[in-house]
Amino acid sequence: MSLIQIRNLQFRYQGSGPWIVDIPEIQFQKGESVFIYGPSGSGKSTWLEILSGVLVPQKGELEILGQKMTQMSGPERDRFRADHLGYVFQSFNLIPYLSVQENIELSSHLSSRRRSQISDLSKEVLHLAEALGLTELLQRRVTDLSVGQQQRVALARALLGKPEIILADEPTSALDADTRQKFIELLFRIAKDQGTTVLFVSHDRSLEKLFSRSLSFVDLSQGKSP
Ligand code: ADP
Ligand code: MG
Repeated sequence: MSLIQIRNLQFRYQGSGPWIVDIPEIQFQKGESVFIYGPSGSGKSTWLEILSGVLVPQKGELEILGQKMTQMSGPERDRFRADHLGYVFQSFNLIPYLSVQENIELSSHLSSRRRSQISDLSKEVLHLAEALGLTELLQRRVTDLSVGQQQRVALARALLGKPEIILADEPTSALDADTRQKFIELLFRIAKDQGTTVLFVSHDRSLEKLFSRSLSFVDLSQGKSP
């Protein structure tokens, strides 16, 4: 069984506007790292918001981990997201008045399932912080950090409690080429340890070669399946 299964998925913001996302069929398997590229405005962020249950498609089916997202209520989707998905966005969504440690711990406070994956919270946070080079920064406020450091905090938070899927929306756009590659290598190393599937969208194809699979979002979402 596929980890993520999409069939005839269609979404638009306005009732009569064009379909922003229109995907006949696609599957993703456990442990894949998938790069999905497409120009700005092509609907990549919209699609990730559908996958994370923030937006609801007007038509079609979306099944994740054997569960039909398209048949869930809003609260059920919120729970599913907190339990099974880690996401890293362009804007990181860190809480400015909290420390690095508190920001990382947030995802465990939102989900009992994620908490149950962690035997010792401070140990696990330290483990991720070490892997991501954040050990010295744990007590700092996130607003004191560089953009690259903030991005790694967002990644640590997304990975805490071993979610099955990481959704990454251009998380490296503010980094230089070298730091960008290092960030992705870190992500892969931890994802591999945890058996996590990574879906990573970007307009920048220079990162493509690092991934196990690569797809054009425009081909995918204009009624053409790869
Ligand atoms: P990408 O992430 O590939 O840059 P987006 O998913 O952000 O693309 O946007 C796809 C299209 O949907 C764009 O034309 C954008 O203007 C439009 N769009 C995005 N968000 C909204 C919204 N909240 N309401 C209406 N249109 C939107
Ligand atoms: Mg976007």
